[in-house]
Amino acid sequence: MIEGTYDALELTLSDWEILFEALGEPKFRASQVCQWIYSKKEFNYHSMSNLSKTLREKLSNNILMSLPIMLRQQVSKDGTKKYLWSLNDGAKIESVILNHGGHKTACISSQAGCPLGCIFCRTGANGFKRNLTRGEILGQFLMMEKINGADINNVVFMGMGEPLLNEDNVFSAIRSLNDKRMRNLGARHITISTSGIVPGIKDLADFEIPIRLSLSLHAPNDELRSKLMPVNKNYPLQSLLYALRRYRERTGERITIEYALIDRVNDSPEYAYETAALLDGLEPYINLIPFNPIPSRPDLQRSEQSRIKAFCNALTELKIEFELRKERGTDIMAACGQLAGSQQ
Ligand code: SF4
Repeated sequence: MIEGTYDALELTLSDWEILFEALGEPKFRASQVCQWIYSKKEFNYHSMSNLSKTLREKLSNNILMSLPIMLRQQVSKDGTKKYLWSLNDGAKIESVILNHGGHKTACISSQAGCPLGCIFCRTGANGFKRNLTRGEILGQFLMMEKINGADINNVVFMGMGEPLLNEDNVFSAIRSLNDKRMRNLGARHITISTSGIVPGIKDLADFEIPIRLSLSLHAPNDELRSKLMPVNKNYPLQSLLYALRRYRERTGERITIEYALIDRVNDSPEYAYETAALLDGLEPYINLIPFNPIPSRPDLQRSEQSRIKAFCNALTELKIEFELRKERGTDIMAACGQLAGSQQ
């Protein structure tokens, strides 16, 4: 065996090929092992029945199979499932599965905590621990498929953390999810949700896999957005819009804009008009989210129904495509950071 400690989910397909070559095994063993792990969710080398007994022994003795340990599973009345995981170093992260008409969407974390401190976010209020490795990102997805005994149809990087601040590991995990010889999840079923990291959006526009992009906007001018999302001071709207237009031109993909409606903060019809003007020419699809209050900011509350209605009417009048998102999993606190936050 070649020297060093290896962990299965940290290995790309070409890493596996190099390993098998060093073991004097044919390259196709790499695809065989990846099929077991990514397709059949078989994490025990001894059960990989198309490998020789000697090879299974070698793998089991030399290549770790680290997976997140499930600390808690909560199931909402609407079928939303939320998971709290513990990683090797004790860091706690969350993932969620949403069910829409038989389709499953996984919302997974890319960092333990988050350094960006958006004022409306519980994860941000709990601070930043570290980036997740590619294996820790993939482990959430594969464990949820294993536990539920069913394939997940879509994945969104919208759990804890900012995925474009952990770009190398997130992109590496996406390559393995998309690879036909690994998980074979279509590019259009993978979405990165960002708070607006401009260099990352530029890289995404050039990324070889045309995955989807969602932007958490929440305010249409720099003054308000910088108050809600301090990241806006580093990447103000003008630079952000430039990066979004470039992404749109290069990929042809429509961008989803997330906008949480916070009572009397960003929910007047004037903000709807300003948002429409800001995004003019981008043909966005807007997701309006009724805000989920967090304990550390009792001053921020969910918009009243009448204000939500007025905001929606303004967008309709402007012929902007939008959806008022149906809330899911509120009885189990399914907004990001709420379960890990409650454990600290
Ligand atoms: S909303 Fe997203 S980017 Fe902002 S603090 Fe929370 S996890 Fe980080």
